[in-house]
Amino acid sequence: MEGKGYAETPLSIDYVADMPYSYHAGFYYSKFLRELRDNKRLVGVKCPACRKVYIPPRIVCRDCFVKMEEFVPVSDQGTLIAFTVTNFSYTDTTTGNPKPIPYTAAYIRLDGSDSNIVHRLDLTDETKIKSGVRVQAVFSENRTGDYFTDIDHFTIIKGDP
Ligand SMILES: [Zn+2]
Repeated sequence: MEGKGYAETPLSIDYVADMPYSYHAGFYYSKFLRELRDNKRLVGVKCPACRKVYIPPRIVCRDCFVKMEEFVPVSDQGTLIAFTVTNFSYTDTTTGNPKPIPYTAAYIRLDGSDSNIVHRLDLTDETKIKSGVRVQAVFSENRTGDYFTDIDHFTIIKGDP
């Protein structure tokens, strides 16, 4: 290589990284995933002090710092809080394939919960999306205990807005 320029073409290095791994989901998240996989049910956990419901369930209330043990059902419908629409293709890190566009990441408050979840919103008409619309979970037929695939996506409830 000469001086400050980049006259030479950089070399490329072929490499295949094979790094399978798994991690322990823990009791609370396992309960959440099991209910989703086996029964298409969403469960949260309720704080005994402030009565807030967290989904996915967590052991300690973030505000009260008390242990939560009461599992409660949470609706598969909710309200779109915020969203991001991506209109350029990029690689899905879980499959290695290009993500379909538009890809919409959604921040959703499910009915019966006091926390928000993140998932994909199936967007067919960009003019219908806005914060505050009602959304519904669409479950996969072949559920395996994976949050992002057992709920295939969320969709805007017909008639809203
Ligand atoms: Zn609390």
